[in-house]
Amino acid sequence: MKVLAVGGGGREHAIVKALVRGGAEVLSVMKNKNPGIARASKDFLLAKETDVEKVVRYALSQGVELAVIGPESPLEMGLVDALVKEGIGCAGPTKSAARIETSKSFARALLSKYKVPGNIRFASFTDLREAERHLKSIDYEVAVKPMGLTGGKGVKIQGEHLADGSEVLVYVREIFEKRIGGAGVVLEERLEGEEFTLQTFCDGKHIVPMPLVQDHKRAFEGDKGPNTGGMGSYSSEDHLLPFVTSSDMEEAVDSMRRTVQALASEGAPYHGILYGQFMLTKDGPRIIEFNARFGDPEAMNVLPLLESNFVDICAGIAGGDIYGKKCQFKRAATVCKYVVPEGYGFEPKANVPIKVDEEGVQRAGAELFYAAVNEEGGEILTSTSRSVAVVGIDVSIDSAERQCERALRFVSGEHIYVRHDIGKHEIIQRKVERMRALRK
Ligand code: AMP
Repeated sequence: MKVLAVGGGGREHAIVKALVRGGAEVLSVMKNKNPGIARASKDFLLAKETDVEKVVRYALSQGVELAVIGPESPLEMGLVDALVKEGIGCAGPTKSAARIETSKSFARALLSKYKVPGNIRFASFTDLREAERHLKSIDYEVAVKPMGLTGGKGVKIQGEHLADGSEVLVYVREIFEKRIGGAGVVLEERLEGEEFTLQTFCDGKHIVPMPLVQDHKRAFEGDKGPNTGGMGSYSSEDHLLPFVTSSDMEEAVDSMRRTVQALASEGAPYHGILYGQFMLTKDGPRIIEFNARFGDPEAMNVLPLLESNFVDICAGIAGGDIYGKKCQFKRAATVCKYVVPEGYGFEPKANVPIKVDEEGVQRAGAELFYAAVNEEGGEILTSTSRSVAVVGIDVSIDSAERQCERALRFVSGEHIYVRHDIGKHEIIQRKVERMRALRK
């Protein structure tokens, strides 16, 4: 089957690899020349993924039957609506269903209306004065989120990035003045606990959960520094996490099932990957946000474990019959670490060469995914975003972590940085203990 894959990052390289494994002939659209995707594709187009007209024209010219959309921005531009209109099935939601990610106020209002468990206190504002008045009236700490898409980087938390109420006010004013993320702000109850990611396949009515993953958003070791797109992530061989029980997971799955039903009731059935970001609090899982796509890095934890045919699954997502498909994941743990340009998250050093010995990584038993790099004249050059990801896959988190580190020796460069603590026993143990203390 001819399948279109949209996007040029690590997540999309994982998607393309899984499609090829499922027997697809892959045609890709990406804005940078990701060497991994370029090599695995029958043909590719270098173009902005948000240029709907161009992408649709390319899909038609190549005779694709199915499309998988990696990033969120083409969804917001209505790429799926345009492809479906041309008779191309999509594993990715329409513009209307994608509001579950693209509009935080839509998402929270939907959860309230359908009484989805796991929702939290929130309010959204397009007027600065009203936001200020609200802040004066509440007695709980907040998470401040610019409305619209900011790639997870505009969110600031009281007690972490913002010392107190007055710093909250300063940041809220800045969001309005500089129009960060568009115009407007969401003020949410601040949650305390441990985060986890639950990704699901959705066919409009049903969901099938994938193994849980924990991502590390902070730039520096010990979960310090600015928020980034994600520095790395891990998953456990039992498909839970060391601090998440199966009943916690069931609660999270239930929240997501009800959200998908709510979207269908609103006339916006969700066909795609629905990503739930949860905070496990002392009272159970709470919804931080939904994304209308795989996570990056989290896609690279789950897709290499998929034993069933990903092309069949994507066709089931598009066609509304995921329940007829097998969605089996290997019982193994994964640890993913991103190699990023020095300064990533604040002042990244772009256009510096990195060397990747793919065979060495393979010999170590790990998988390699290219991300926001460019291939020019036989050289691989960094951009301002993440460069390559290395994923260790083994019987336990500990051994997957060691494998990942052995494989990382085959990626070198003068100005690169890796968070080596991800997946290490000590950092995970701290999380387990923190969760135990919270739940007491
Ligand atoms: P988001 O872009 O919504 O995923 O937020 C980015 C990061 O901010 C998350 O990964 C969390 O670490 C943190 N965060 C978001 N919302 C909250 C909240 N309500 N309480 C505490 N932390 C939050």
